[in-house]
Amino acid sequence: MTQDYSMVLGLEIHMQLNTDSKMFCGCKNDPFESDANTNVCPVCLGLPGAMPVPNLNALKNAQLFAHSVGAKLQTKIIYERKNYFYPDLPKGFQLTCPHNPIAVGGSLNGINFREIHLEEDTAKSIHTDDLTLIDFNKSGVPLLEIVTEPDFTDIDQAVEFCKEIQLIARYLGVSEADMEKGNMRLEANISVRKPGQVELPNYRVEMKNINSFSFMKKALQHELRRQAETLVNGEVLVQETRGFNEVTGKTFSQRSKEEANDYRYFPEPDIPEIEVDDKWMSEITTRDVLLPSELRLKLKEKGLNDQYILRLVGDFSLYEKYLAVMDLGYSPSESANFVVNISEYKEKSPLEIDKIEKLKKTSKITDEAILSPIVETVINENSKVVSDFKSGNASAMQFLIGQVMKSTQGKADAQIVASILNKLLA
Ligand code: ADP
Ligand code: ZN
Ligand code: MG
Repeated sequence: MTQDYSMVLGLEIHMQLNTDSKMFCGCKNDPFESDANTNVCPVCLGLPGAMPVPNLNALKNAQLFAHSVGAKLQTKIIYERKNYFYPDLPKGFQLTCPHNPIAVGGSLNGINFREIHLEEDTAKSIHTDDLTLIDFNKSGVPLLEIVTEPDFTDIDQAVEFCKEIQLIARYLGVSEADMEKGNMRLEANISVRKPGQVELPNYRVEMKNINSFSFMKKALQHELRRQAETLVNGEVLVQETRGFNEVTGKTFSQRSKEEANDYRYFPEPDIPEIEVDDKWMSEITTRDVLLPSELRLKLKEKGLNDQYILRLVGDFSLYEKYLAVMDLGYSPSESANFVVNISEYKEKSPLEIDKIEKLKKTSKITDEAILSPIVETVINENSKVVSDFKSGNASAMQFLIGQVMKSTQGKADAQIVASILNKLLA
């Protein structure tokens, strides 16, 4: 049924930037501060008359991110008020840059960006049995919004794209981009059309509150099937916001968006237009950064296999450990093997790994003068196996080596033992 329709998907990705201070005031940017309402001031509490001052560090981090993902930086940024009422938004408007954003256009892995904004996060609502509490520590935290064109045609492609965005943010150090913690939040817009149809469907369903990649995949798969089934049944799809219930495995309507929201946007009178001059621009675009895509290539050139590359690129601290192990004289594949595969080394530092490896090497018995008498004893005690070996049974050799290993607690050098055996039994 789903094969009768093709999917149209566009993403809106939000990420909290980890600057020292908030977006428009000097309060500490720590949305996870457990002591409620401590990082607050008149600006982020929305008190009348408070003056917002844009955080240039946040702006530069947003620009660095936008540039690094291939979006085109803009030279003029204008903050506007997006007016709406909600208890977690004390001013009655959110400051954002909808018409003159940080970046417009450009693409990553074939997906075009519509625009990238830098705005402010809302406060946090805490719902108890009989009341709702508001914690303003999160109010005014810098929030990056990445909006793609509806270019995705495949759910896995969308998940991979989000993972890449997450990695890039982490590599640049601009956001922790943790979905579970809520540093990174996804909204997916999805609709379906007949294969070959060029124009976009006249509706879209917005899926909110996606808090993990596996949830994203499941929710979108169900929503895609629901939309196809609805059309097959001759029913019409409407513009709405839907959630996904993991228990029932179904999506459900949360809010229908028949009439367009009117946010009555207008420029924030207290924030002058921001002009990004050439000097500022080149400070961002010439910054020396490492991107996951570049690291993948680099590791490929070192001859590492795809499984190693996936693990090392996906976990920067593991990659750093890999580098530190290499610095101690190990080859790329040896180092990758130690940090990726050997569970015993998971909790060990590079120096500890080196110590264990050296010990393994130095405690090996390679001296023929020591090994020969042991090999002779083994030969004398296993005459049956020896005659098997002489009649061409290859596993007899393995058994004899095994016996030497046993009597040396595994310290004998197997290759040297084999050559002694060959010599003595020739
Ligand atoms: P609005 O202006 O109402 O916010 P936009 O046109 O900006 O809507 O689109 C918001 C998001 O929805 C974008 O990520 C875009 O790619 C996506 N989108 C737009 N139209 C469709 C559609 N028909 N199907 C799926 N996604 C869509
Ligand atoms: Zn504040
Ligand atoms: Mg929009």
